[in-house]
Amino acid sequence: MKQPNQPTDIARAAIKLLATRKLAPTPENYRRAYGEVSGLQAQSQVWAHAIRELIREWDAYQEGLTQARKREMLERVLLNFGADAEQLFERVANLARSWAESPHTNRGVGDNGTPLPVAAAIGIGGPGAAHPQTDPSAWSRSLGLLADGLENRWEDLAKRCRDLAAHTDWPQAEFHAEWDSVWREILLRAEDDHELLRGMQRLVRLLFENIASLVGEDAWLSGQLVAMRALMAGQLNSHTLFEAERGLNEIVAMQGKLKDNLQDAKTKLKYLISTFIDRLGEISSSTGSYQERLAAYSERIAQADDLSQLADVVDNLTSDMGDIQTVLRQSHEELIEARSHVVQAELRIFTLEKELDQVSNLIREDQLTGALNRRGLEEAFVRELARAERMQAPLSLALLDIDHFKRLNDSLGHHAGDQALVHLARVIRDMLRPTDSLSRYGGEEFLILLPNTDLDEATQVMRRLQRELTKAIFLYDHQKVLITFSAGVVQWRGKETREQVIARADAAMYRAKAAGRNRVVQET
Ligand code: GH3
Ligand code: MG
Ligand code: MG
Repeated sequence: MKQPNQPTDIARAAIKLLATRKLAPTPENYRRAYGEVSGLQAQSQVWAHAIRELIREWDAYQEGLTQARKREMLERVLLNFGADAEQLFERVANLARSWAESPHTNRGVGDNGTPLPVAAAIGIGGPGAAHPQTDPSAWSRSLGLLADGLENRWEDLAKRCRDLAAHTDWPQAEFHAEWDSVWREILLRAEDDHELLRGMQRLVRLLFENIASLVGEDAWLSGQLVAMRALMAGQLNSHTLFEAERGLNEIVAMQGKLKDNLQDAKTKLKYLISTFIDRLGEISSSTGSYQERLAAYSERIAQADDLSQLADVVDNLTSDMGDIQTVLRQSHEELIEARSHVVQAELRIFTLEKELDQVSNLIREDQLTGALNRRGLEEAFVRELARAERMQAPLSLALLDIDHFKRLNDSLGHHAGDQALVHLARVIRDMLRPTDSLSRYGGEEFLILLPNTDLDEATQVMRRLQRELTKAIFLYDHQKVLITFSAGVVQWRGKETREQVIARADAAMYRAKAAGRNRVVQET
């Protein structure tokens, strides 16, 4: 790609870029365009943008351009310029631009990447579309139609579209910001839907694969079915499905191990019992016949007339004693072997318990509150950071700590404290969006991840949570207990590690404590 290298050229090219992409000339957009032109952004990001543009235009409708025609155009570019990276980039970007500039372009994208029927019909654009000042009534109408299309699915987004439709006279920057946010949320949720479907498929496959190997063992199968039923009874979203898949995998793995070990133990036990019975039989039968023979020997001793007859008896007796000793020695050896089996079994149980412990470590949920545990949080973080980066969407984070929790524990007892934690987690979960995630970060500290939410919005969410918590009274032993928290809110700064962003949230939370508690402090 040819890059301008004089500052004035870069500035001019950046402005041109904004114009061709129909982006509002906000400082943020300008900064990005400038960075892009000057090559500060990684080559891959530039490519990612070009490909995104291409996909968007591919899905959009342009008069006189069928997808077959577009494929032909793209194939021609690939054929002619595929060997030259610089040229290829320019040609691909130009192609997307030329499609975008065709009449009747529309960028509505539905759940599976195809145009939303409503958006396609009405010609609504995604972020970067013209401001309604160009034709406020058409925008109002279009937004109304889009709201209708969203109504049965995502009520909150439908409402935001209606608000936008009613306020096409808002200042341009404000209107754009809200429209941009609504649009991203639609994309985010559509992506979630897609993941939901894939998760479902994996789950069903997993279940059926296991039914086959577990046939004949009712108890094992019912364990999995109970887990599935519990999942189906709850609210389905990609997060719960993801958790269910992993839960089921854990059950299957644990059952597999237990099953093998149980089978093994059963076989060993059977062997031990049968050996004991055999040996006992041998001992009793040989000692029984020994008793009889002893009686016969004493008879013969009593009737013996000479020493030679006695010698015979002694010979027989010695041989019998030898037999008995052999049998007893064998039994002794069997007993030693049995003991070593027991020791081995104990060792296996010890190993199995350790493995079970490790499996428990794989569980991602906190047992008390049902929020994610540290491990679950780690996974959610990785997923959300990647998504924020991919969608170039904001990601905020709130760390909250209950105020004077020790006092509550001391006055009402530890159980009351536990119930207060359960109550708080429930109130938070009820209020969050499906894409948000709640995790228990420490004893009475919780961490909330808010994708597609900027710092101000996240702060508002936390303040709303404070109000909700005051309303949703916590009753313990017929006593009303007021729970308050202090929270720190931050927005992820891109390229920042998980530890860094949490440390900033922690610092903000401590400022909330220092300022008197029961408050939300956003990072300055
Ligand atoms: P501050 O407003 O400064 O946060 O005061 P605090 O009393 O909440 O803070 P501190 O960190 O001193 O005490 C937290 C207490 O939370 C200490 C611990 O006994 C209690 N705690 C931690 N985990 C649990 C839990 O799982 N259940 C219960 N009941 N209490 C817990
Ligand atoms: Mg604390
Ligand atoms: Mg506390």
